[in-house]
Amino acid sequence: MNKLLMVEDDPDLADLLGQVLAFEGFEIEQAPSLAAARTCLKSPQSLVLLDVGLPDGNGFDLLREIREDHPDLPVIMLTARGEAMDRVLGLELGADDYLPKPFETRELTARIRAVLRRAHTAADVEAAPSAMVLNHARREAKLSGEPVDVTAAEFDLLDLLLAKSPEPVSKDELSESALGKPLGPYDRAIDVHISRLRKKLGEGPGAPKIVALRNRGYQWVEPE
Ligand code: CA
Repeated sequence: MNKLLMVEDDPDLADLLGQVLAFEGFEIEQAPSLAAARTCLKSPQSLVLLDVGLPDGNGFDLLREIREDHPDLPVIMLTARGEAMDRVLGLELGADDYLPKPFETRELTARIRAVLRRAHTAADVEAAPSAMVLNHARREAKLSGEPVDVTAAEFDLLDLLLAKSPEPVSKDELSESALGKPLGPYDRAIDVHISRLRKKLGEGPGAPKIVALRNRGYQWVEPE
């Protein structure tokens, strides 16, 4: 479970984002001020969504503190009206991404997943390297160092499965995200793509698996 800390003082926006992100499967903690955020940061968080203008100060001040105390904690800045200065300042201070308001909630969830995935990949490199490594810039997949020839849809499926692992991903979400369309009744498109992907992953004991879970979708399982 990924736990997100949302530091946002606009109650309507915080409410909306809280609902959307909960629906997407994230656990959300809300902080309407810097003081509240500092308290929340005493317990572990997976990612921080950080507004700039807050009632008791500036989000950049908290960003500085987070970089001191939690250097690996990903932060996405949410700033008003795309002020270029904010963007440069945010990235210079070590924000992982930046999203100007107003934004589509879909865009936000995509950014959150991408940032979490990068953070997990970085952590995994030291712990246990994942058998599958995705190069997002080149949209290439490598399995245990060997290139795997995947289609664009297969790449997006892999990306989402890996990002959510070890949680399963519903077929609805896979269809929306990788194929860009809602899952229709009797729709087998995702099953067909997954079946092709499985062939490409191979079946040896060292191969990762994509496991079907009844009514819950598909789950990425790393090799033992
Ligand atoms: Ca604000």
